[in-house]
Amino acid sequence: MTDATLPPPEPGERIELDDEAAVLAEAATAVEAAAETVDMEPLDSPRRLLLVHAHPDDETIGTGATMALYAAQGALVTLVTCTLGEEGEVLVPGLAHLASDQDDALGQHRIGELAAACEALRVTDHRFLGGPGRWRDSGMMGTPQNDRPECFWQADLDEAVRDLVAIVREVRPQVVVTYDSNGGYGHPDHVQAHRVTVAAFDAAGDPSYAPELGETWQAAKLYWTAFPNSVLQAGIDHLKASGETNFFGADSADDLPFGVPDEQVTTEVDAGDHLDAKTAAMRAHKTQIEVDGPFFALSNNVGQRAFGTEYYTLARGDRGPSDGPLGREVDLFAGIDHT
Ligand SMILES: [Zn+2]
Repeated sequence: MTDATLPPPEPGERIELDDEAAVLAEAATAVEAAAETVDMEPLDSPRRLLLVHAHPDDETIGTGATMALYAAQGALVTLVTCTLGEEGEVLVPGLAHLASDQDDALGQHRIGELAAACEALRVTDHRFLGGPGRWRDSGMMGTPQNDRPECFWQADLDEAVRDLVAIVREVRPQVVVTYDSNGGYGHPDHVQAHRVTVAAFDAAGDPSYAPELGETWQAAKLYWTAFPNSVLQAGIDHLKASGETNFFGADSADDLPFGVPDEQVTTEVDAGDHLDAKTAAMRAHKTQIEVDGPFFALSNNVGQRAFGTEYYTLARGDRGPSDGPLGREVDLFAGIDHT
């Protein structure tokens, strides 16, 4: 273990930005530690959760508390990340040269950030779809980066689905999580992650599909990540009232692309006990998430409700016992016999 998982910041605390050397050293230590992790056989864990995300940091922002919760409970949590996030904005001034329009070295750097984040979440099984760097970040929708032949938006879907089916058949998850058909907010890599995951969810259980990739496995449930409009609105209102910050410049949840109507949410996972792990993982994504930016403001101000609880929409499979608030499931494995 390393000290890559810093304690979460105190509310209002200003964090000194590390210089470049410290950031890189921390990332390298985290990568080394991850490599030393003892491998467990996937089937040693009776409950297995697979999450498919587009870029390093998406796992933490959207599902970090859930991942930390299930990992802490001894479930196997497998993260598949589809790109290295090469087109991300670099928010650390000393590392600005990594950006795609300068050294174009952000992807390699973010491998280290993701390793540190996974360590904070205690998630030991992490893979890049097709291997690190197989698919490049496609940039925001409508940018010229969408047309690069190596970007995920231009991916050969058959190849990407095969790669994911091989992982599903190896890990045998009961539960798979990714984005809705809009990719949560329309980013091409998120939309593509949705397409590939839906296709692989079905193909993995189809005996006629690529038998050379292993024994078929049909996962029981497929979920989309979801951020209920009411929770988003409460966060915006709270931040405005406290004068803390301006959440992406929005007055209303309707102005933001990533909220969903509350009635679409089927499941809420209360992982508030793991909010510290999620916050530490956000800090690990140093080039991407500003410690004085809107996500930290949300987690400091309305953390438990807006950030310690994560929300999902059941897309495939049978809904389990719905004994949570608003008749929602409280467990992604609800109703699944995993013995
Ligand atoms: Zn993303």
